Amino acid sequence: METLIKNYIDNSIEELHSLLKALVEIPAPSHHEEKRAEFIKSWLENQGAKGVYIDDALNCVYPINCENSNDIVVFCAHTDTVFPDTTPFELKSDGEYFYAPGVCDDTSSLTMMLMATKFIIENKLNPKRGVLIVANSCEEGLGNLKGTKKIMEDYKGRVTEFYTFDGNYSHVAPRCVGSHRYEVNCEAEGGHSFGNFGKESAIHNLAKLITELYAVKVPVKQNAKTTFNVGIIEGGTSVNTIAQNAKMLYEYRSDDVECLKYMEDFFHQTIDKFNQEGKAKFTVNTVGIRPCADNVDENKLNAMTERVITVCENRSKKPCTLTTMSTDCNIPLSLGIPAVCVGVYDGSGEHRREEKLLISSLPIGLNICLDLMLDNFGE
Ligand SMILES: [Zn+2]
Repeated sequence: METLIKNYIDNSIEELHSLLKALVEIPAPSHHEEKRAEFIKSWLENQGAKGVYIDDALNCVYPINCENSNDIVVFCAHTDTVFPDTTPFELKSDGEYFYAPGVCDDTSSLTMMLMATKFIIENKLNPKRGVLIVANSCEEGLGNLKGTKKIMEDYKGRVTEFYTFDGNYSHVAPRCVGSHRYEVNCEAEGGHSFGNFGKESAIHNLAKLITELYAVKVPVKQNAKTTFNVGIIEGGTSVNTIAQNAKMLYEYRSDDVECLKYMEDFFHQTIDKFNQEGKAKFTVNTVGIRPCADNVDENKLNAMTERVITVCENRSKKPCTLTTMSTDCNIPLSLGIPAVCVGVYDGSGEHRREEKLLISSLPIGLNICLDLMLDNFGE
């Protein structure tokens, strides 16, 4: 098998590059992944895959042996990028790196997962359990993990292991960060800055709220990290108007379920307190909720993590360290299903237009995908 894999990788480099190029050129902002999903569906069908479908969340799903299985392992890589552009990106290269927005995150991982899938189809490998291969939608920011939520709903109670290919192979993320994001609107009486001086200002009241939120003592717990941030504020009408409206985007995060709950309670109590004071009216819109891990079988998660570290270090010849990330794993982990985020490339500049991918990391990543996926197949 090792020789078969080695030959396959050696002979796949060109195809790997042209598939990466084709995918990079299809813009896929979160919620608008339909073109990539269609492309991947026909690509898989051209390799001989049967039963590929696109669901309402725009996931492209290839179930292998899943019909009657209650022991399904999921492998996924996300199709969406953080860039809102709807015109195609160009894949540039200087011989050492590929450059394009989204080229690493997560288009390269997606490409390698698809090429590993092609190997499985080509060699007619027999699955030992249900294997669900998913090019999933909506991983980034306000996509809110819609794609993974849909998968976990459709295969409820049947998924026993979950892997997402995302990130650099120097890191593995078996823990996840939960985050809650809100838009807070503030309305106050306002008026003319001179004539109505002394009336309540939405800007002033929102500023007071922000000060109070920043005065929180974040819960301290061993191995847990908890953070918060007001990322955007806006409001007001003109320099000589006491503001009637102001709003902000606020988030807090933690990798611990109790700390996240503490921040949630603190936030809502603070809003209630300000509303009771009655100087201004605060309303809250929930922008996104990403849960964190809850009740996951630690032994199983540790075993999966160990295996991933072994494979990544073995193939990349570089150390692979543990990290915490917010990824598609948040959803299975919040449901108590062990899930690991596996890095498969070497690159940098994710979420920036200068993103670059080390070309020589592609065969390494493909090898990592193959090793992990083939654990679930016999010959
Ligand atoms: Zn990503």
